[in-house]
Amino acid sequence: MGIVAFALGLIVGSFVNVCIYRLPRRESVVWPGSHCPHCQAPIRWYDNIPLLSFALLGGRCRRCRAPISWRYPLVEFLTAALFVQSVAAFGVSLRALQSLVLGTLLLIVFFVDLDHYIIPNRITYPGTVIGLLFAALSDGRVDWRHAAVAAVTALALGGGFVLVNVLSAWILGQEGMGMGDAKLAAMIGAFLGWPIGAVAILMGVFIGGALGVGLLALRLKGRREQIPFGPAMAAGALAAMWWGPGLLNWYLTKMLG
Ligand SMILES: [Zn+2]
Repeated sequence: MGIVAFALGLIVGSFVNVCIYRLPRRESVVWPGSHCPHCQAPIRWYDNIPLLSFALLGGRCRRCRAPISWRYPLVEFLTAALFVQSVAAFGVSLRALQSLVLGTLLLIVFFVDLDHYIIPNRITYPGTVIGLLFAALSDGRVDWRHAAVAAVTALALGGGFVLVNVLSAWILGQEGMGMGDAKLAAMIGAFLGWPIGAVAILMGVFIGGALGVGLLALRLKGRREQIPFGPAMAAGALAAMWWGPGLLNWYLTKMLG
């Protein structure tokens, strides 16, 4: 099962790469086929096999020999790892499917936000709808109460970010985060519901804060420089989805004795 999940993940990972490159450039993700960003030569199917082609071509375009970013095989591998982890955490189930769909969307957000400081609406809008559909279908039957909880969580988390933005603009004279972050928070809320959606955002804020302080301390980023928050939220959401229930349980047992 692990091998099947890994192979499927590699194929999807190839498409994740296309999305990461094209979504922020407002290009279609289905047409035209992949081409070398350097010489524009179309990439043949045998040069587009995940991981393998990169290794066989020595990380260079077959025609112009321009180097291909190591990010491509990395993203393919990460997507494959995501698929394996989803099946390991939830078995072959609807929850595993939900886990790998959310994970795939978050992988795209992670790299697009890292490169371009934007979180595409083409991910968060359909992502929120898909998240609510999964919530409605939890346990394999239609559950409107569960969907309603997910919808309220999405509104509350997205609204929370909008509020922080408004307050930050009012008090500090600059927006704390973009609207893309608010829409991402709503999507995560739709997928994970209450309380795990809230745990996800808390973990994202914690990871983002720690990274921000670290980058400033190491002088890798200046005080005025923008640090994208989407990657931290994506990491927090994945951690919360897989380990949040256990973590929450442990915390509540400790707190309540
Ligand atoms: Zn080329």
